[in-house]
Amino acid sequence: MTIDGAVASTEATFDVVNPATGAPEATAPDCTPQQLDAAMTSAAKAYRDWRRDEGRRRELLRQSADALMAAAEDIAPILTLEQGKPLGEATFEVYGAAIWFQYYADLEIPRQVIQDDDAAFVEVVQRPLGVVAGITPWNFPLVLASWKIAPALLAGNTMVLKPSPFTPRATLKVGEVLRDVLPPGVLNVISGKDPLGASMTSHPVPRKISLTGSVATGKKVAAAAAPDLKRTTLELGGNDPAIVLDDVDVDTVVEKLFWGAFQNNGQVCSAIKRVYVPESLHDRIVDGLADLARSVKVGPGTEADVQLGPINNRPQYERVSELVADALSSGAVAAAGGKPIDGDGYFFEPTILTGLSDGSRIVDEEQFGPALPVITYRDIDEVVERANATHYGLSGSVWGADADRASQIAEELECGTAWVNTHLALAPHQPFGGAKWSGIGVENGTWGLLAFSEPQVVHRSKA
Ligand code: NAD
Repeated sequence: MTIDGAVASTEATFDVVNPATGAPEATAPDCTPQQLDAAMTSAAKAYRDWRRDEGRRRELLRQSADALMAAAEDIAPILTLEQGKPLGEATFEVYGAAIWFQYYADLEIPRQVIQDDDAAFVEVVQRPLGVVAGITPWNFPLVLASWKIAPALLAGNTMVLKPSPFTPRATLKVGEVLRDVLPPGVLNVISGKDPLGASMTSHPVPRKISLTGSVATGKKVAAAAAPDLKRTTLELGGNDPAIVLDDVDVDTVVEKLFWGAFQNNGQVCSAIKRVYVPESLHDRIVDGLADLARSVKVGPGTEADVQLGPINNRPQYERVSELVADALSSGAVAAAGGKPIDGDGYFFEPTILTGLSDGSRIVDEEQFGPALPVITYRDIDEVVERANATHYGLSGSVWGADADRASQIAEELECGTAWVNTHLALAPHQPFGGAKWSGIGVENGTWGLLAFSEPQVVHRSKA
């Protein structure tokens, strides 16, 4: 771990399992309560200076980006071993994290003069909050950490960051790389089994908790943050619909739908989780998706040409297996896949399901895995209502040749990001967050920076 700019180790450790084998591959430190205190105290101490010099912060964010780029080939194999994703995607994730640092190094911090007359000069500036606790999940440990670290640090905060216990080591490695760039205490990276996340949330030092994780955890964090009125950003789960319109070009849309659903083995908060298609196009779309599902190469992320790795962890593997089995036992048909792959590791056949209706668990719940239900609809108003009939509201997409018509329908979706003729297009300048139970607040862009600061009025009297 990295605490106060130095290596911190523990006697107690926990196993980190390689999902491609199902066996422990390494261990990670289990942060003690004293070390958590030390990390928080160090961040609070570092905050006093860090918040003062914006130019230095920008320069060190730039250097952080360079250091991550330079270390990508050291970090990526660690990510593949613990997360499961193919090595190329793991490398791309490290570069992605560096790109977020670059973006924030150059982003202007808003300030606005709202009065300048004989009576007063009044300006609204953005004040940092203090120490931020960052808590991340196991699907994109590095890029999601960068969505927190880069804007929080640019705004002048310091941070204590904790990755998921399923994927701690790549993030610990990032802490090690940035230890040589950032002043002690500005970024402390700790790891541990839960309830470490809960201990961070209830700790008296942080003024803000920035969580990416499940809805269940988000609700716990919101409740635990309430007594001290800690600020929260909660980036939570999704159950994204894709609505295919009747004028779509099936041949071009199928591959885009497939990768919108199956990227990272479906373990993307905003992956397509259910596809609504007109009855007239159902068979062609299902056939196209099923052909792709059968043709992708599934295997350990360390092997060349592998496109989909294993599911990340045993509970998630069991959950996906259970939801697919439940669908099949209640009348769904697997046009492709439908079961775990025999052998070691948490591998699951890329699965396309038909014959399902709303009300099936796999349609209504976030399954977060390599299975995609295709469901028919008859008219647009009905399908929009069905797409919105969920507690989730992370993102969604509409697909059609008439982009204006598709955009109008996209605006009807109750979600943070509504894509047209694409899905999963994310960028540093684009605010990302969820409606309803998918979260509170946003990350990225200027909005993501504002989330790590608060407006302060500086009123200079001229009287
Ligand atoms: P999770 O909620 O189980 O864990 C997320 C993090 O919270 C982990 O670091 C965990 O240790 C920590 N944690 C667990 N209990 C806690 C508590 N009581 N207090 C504080 N922290 C606690 O989620 P996961 O299984 O790691 O990740 C998958 C979930 O994350 C999915 O629901 C997915 O949709 C969501 N996700 C959302 C986004 C987004 O941007 N909206 C992005 C990626 C993943």
